[in-house]
Amino acid sequence: MKANREILDKETLTRVIGQYPYEPTNQTRGSYLLVSGGIHGNEPSGVLAIQRVFKKLRKENLSLKGKMVGVTGNLVALKKGVRMIDKDLNRVCTLKNEEQLKAGKALDFHEASEFNELMKIIENLEDEELNTNLHFMDLHTTSSNTPPYISVNRREESFNFAKQMPLPVVKGIEKYIPGHFDHYQTMRGHTGFTMEAGQHDDPKSIDYHEAAIWVIMVKTDMLEKTAIPYDHYHSLLENASPTHDNFEVTYRQEIGEDHYFRMDPGYANFSKINKGQRLATLDGETIVSNYSGRVFLPLYQTQGSDGFFIVKPA
Ligand SMILES: [Zn+2]
Repeated sequence: MKANREILDKETLTRVIGQYPYEPTNQTRGSYLLVSGGIHGNEPSGVLAIQRVFKKLRKENLSLKGKMVGVTGNLVALKKGVRMIDKDLNRVCTLKNEEQLKAGKALDFHEASEFNELMKIIENLEDEELNTNLHFMDLHTTSSNTPPYISVNRREESFNFAKQMPLPVVKGIEKYIPGHFDHYQTMRGHTGFTMEAGQHDDPKSIDYHEAAIWVIMVKTDMLEKTAIPYDHYHSLLENASPTHDNFEVTYRQEIGEDHYFRMDPGYANFSKINKGQRLATLDGETIVSNYSGRVFLPLYQTQGSDGFFIVKPA
């Protein structure tokens, strides 16, 4: 392990990573930006990127309109370095669970309490007077190597918001995996997206996450372009992806409980595929693609219920 590799300090990790401006008296009217990292506990990159941004905002005493808040997702899983405790937090952020939790019902899985705390943070931000617009970014990484990209729900405001980033945009995942944190915030009427920065432990993922936060703060008029090395961050993202096209999710390969899925080796995110091409095995049976398109989120880890998706140009 390289000495300079950033490691998450699990001892000091808290729900709210930071907020800026720190003092309410220094705050001015403007957009609010809620950035979340570690909704999956084995994805520290987003949290590390958020920490970097706060450190720099404070050190350089940058002037920001509105407010930026950074939060951890699955805090207990992050501290343990595991993806989840009982359930995938990125599947249980539903309005139904929200209703149950608000009615004071205890749900029998750990992630309910994580969701409950996130819900309260969002509600408090919604109620704040200086908030003109609540934007969000949910930062993730993937098990396999991938160029950074954005996943966005089918909502025009969010799509237009996402298209400001120099990255490929995939829309429509909520049809296949409802209950992700982005989906919940979208259903509460907020504008934002999920960003996948690359492989879980690749140091570049942290750089891409950090760059995306700076770029979006400029795009939302929270920060002056000249206050930061904007062009550096923008081109870092722009040069990271071989494509800047828009895609739409058209297929999901489900893995039922107690089924054994194995992705064929060699597929990367956005790998082009043809109809009839062999992609994986499920319980030893070969799976071939019924479509031409591109493979999206091929599963190369043991936990998960989505084998792969297929996307087509939107
Ligand atoms: Zn994730």
